[in-house]
This record gives sequence, C-alpha cells and structure tokens, in this order.
Amino acid sequence: MIPFLDLKAPHVELRAEIDAAIARVLDSGWYILGPEVEVFEAEFAAYCQVDHAVGVANGLDALHLALRAMDIGPGDEVIVPSNTYIATWLAVSQCGALPVPVEPVEATHNLDPARIEAALTRRTKAILPVHLYGQPADLDPILAIARSHGLRTLEDGAQAHGARYKGRRIGGHGDAVAWSFYPGKNLGALGDGGAVTTNDPELAQRLRVLRNYGSQVKYVNEVQGWNSRLDPLQAAVLRVKLAHLDAWNARRAALARLYLDGLAGTGLVLPAVPEWADPAWHLFVVRHPRRDALQQALADAGIGTLIHYPIPPHKQQAYAEAGFASDAFPLACTLADQVLSLPMGPQLSFGAATRVIDVIRQGC
Ligand SMILES: *Cc1c(COP(=O)(O)O)cnc(C)c1O
Repeated sequence: MIPFLDLKAPHVELRAEIDAAIARVLDSGWYILGPEVEVFEAEFAAYCQVDHAVGVANGLDALHLALRAMDIGPGDEVIVPSNTYIATWLAVSQCGALPVPVEPVEATHNLDPARIEAALTRRTKAILPVHLYGQPADLDPILAIARSHGLRTLEDGAQAHGARYKGRRIGGHGDAVAWSFYPGKNLGALGDGGAVTTNDPELAQRLRVLRNYGSQVKYVNEVQGWNSRLDPLQAAVLRVKLAHLDAWNARRAALARLYLDGLAGTGLVLPAVPEWADPAWHLFVVRHPRRDALQQALADAGIGTLIHYPIPPHKQQAYAEAGFASDAFPLACTLADQVLSLPMGPQLSFGAATRVIDVIRQGC
C-alpha cells in the first residue's frame, strides 16, 4: 500500500524534538499566545523574508481576518480564482463581500492576470490569488493591475510554504499572505493553525487586535474582534518543523523531478513550471481525460490518490444562491473533472514514487 500522504511519518522522524517542544510549553505556564507564539511568529516572518507574522487559529481565519483588516465588507467585491479550495471564497463571504471568480491559466492552474481587468467593477476592493498546489501565481502582473486600480492584494499561501516567485519567498510580495498550518500542509501543525504575513506594520497591528477580541490591553476592547489565536503548543511544534521545511521541500522537489521524468510521454498532462517559479510541491497534480478510471487503476494497485478539488466553489450548494449560470467557468469545471493528485510528501520514498510511475506507465 502506498498512501496518498502519511501524516504520522514526519512526526515519527522528529519525535524527540517534538516531545521536548511540547514539554517546554507544558512547563511554561503560558497556554494562550505568549512567548512561544511570538518566537514562532518572528521565525516564520524571517523565513518568509517579511517583517511581520501574526498567528491565528487556522487558514480560513487568516484569510478572513486579513480581509477585515483591509476594511473589506458589505458591498465590496474581491477577485478570487474560479478553481480553488472553497476557503478562499468563504473568507470573502464571511466579510459580507462578494467573491468574483476569474478563470486560471490552463497550464498552471493559477489565476490568469489577463482575465482580471474584465472582472473589475467600481466595487472591486482586492485581488486574492492562490498559490495553488504550491505553484506560485504570476504575481508581478497581478500586483501591477492592483496598483493601477488602487486595489489591495491578499495571497492565499496555504499550499505554498517555502515556494519562491522570481527568487523571493512567497510572504511579502503583495499587501499580505494568509497561511494555513493544517496538518497536511507543507508546514503543518498537530491540529489547526494559521498566520498572516505582511510588511505593513499597521495591518499587522490590526490583525493582532482582531484575533484577540478586538483588544490590545486586557479588558479594553477597541473593536468587536474574534477569538482566533494560534495555540502555543502548535507554535512550539511548528518551530520544530519550520527548521526542517527547506530539507523537506527539497525532498518534494526531487520526487517531483522523478515524476516529471518518469511520466513524460504518457497520456497525462504534467504540471507546467514557468521559469520564474520555484514551487513548494505541496501537491503533484496531473490531468487525464479519463481521470476516474486512472484513479481506480491506481487504487486497485494499492496506490492512494486524491482530487483537489472535485467540485468548484461556484457549483457547490453553499453558493447556489449566488445564481451562477450553469455554463459559467468552464475551465474550472474541466479541471475539476480531470485533475488527480499523486502521492507526495517529504517521507514518500523514491521506491514508492517509482512504483506509482510504473503502474501509470502500464495503464496509459
Ligand atoms: C488548507 C487551505 C485553506 C484553509 O486552511 P484551514 O487551515 O484548513 O482553514 C485555505 N486555502 C487553501 C488553498 C487551502 O489549501
């Protein structure tokens, strides 16, 4: 059996370090925010080559609170990808604003800068690109559009810890980046966690207030905030894993190279990597017109795969009231029908990846 992702494997590898980090929090007497969270925030900001990181409870809150800190609310519109995890859209909806979908570049699956201007209206306030599958979105043209129209940019970096765009780490290109530390992400906690990175000190300060009941000074509430704080136990675990992130991303990249070479010339459409992109390889996503049969053939051979994502947000019942046309966003629909994520993770062996390649080569 080759699982899609073995969540236990990274922790087995780091067991002694993680045990020590957890014991340090237990012994500290600090169980909400405090020094462990502050040190992780500083270390993660430094890793992302950015001035500030603010830890929050999860990736959805990171997106939602970052939009709130940008004053996005009812009547506003935010450009989002038509093909993303629904959290990207929900964060906009939670602000009372309207997610306005834009289709991706077919080869990269990432937001197409050439299609953004047609979707802008008087009400557009921000652009929210996603670095989907750990492949950086084409930020320069997106940021240029935002600048020329006076829009904010928030990036969804939930799948892109360590990815680089034109040599610089994702984290500080636009106004802010929202991160998730969900266990399966490249930098994953032992539960939920999230953060926002930014070079804007005012935005960082607003986020610190919003995540903590709208309060800087205990029992003094400036605004109606939320309780969305990164847990110090998770921060301590994340500090351990952050030190291994580059090495683990390098293993992912080596596996991706193996897949790219081994699957060349099959019927699969393989990930396209622009020359300016240094992906984090959160997922290795292929396309095939008979995707379901391919997934079944792999399952029969004991190989686990997943579909990211089978139903685009505009086709979800959750957005039925938005009234999208039945033929809207055809590219997002085609991708949802054809994508398949192969096993990928820092603890996946080369032998296992070679077996995946062999099974696919026999079947396609
Ligand atoms: C995981 C993920 C999120 C949400 O993160 P949570 O921590 O689960 O709330 C948001 N956007 C994308 C693209 C994700 O992959």
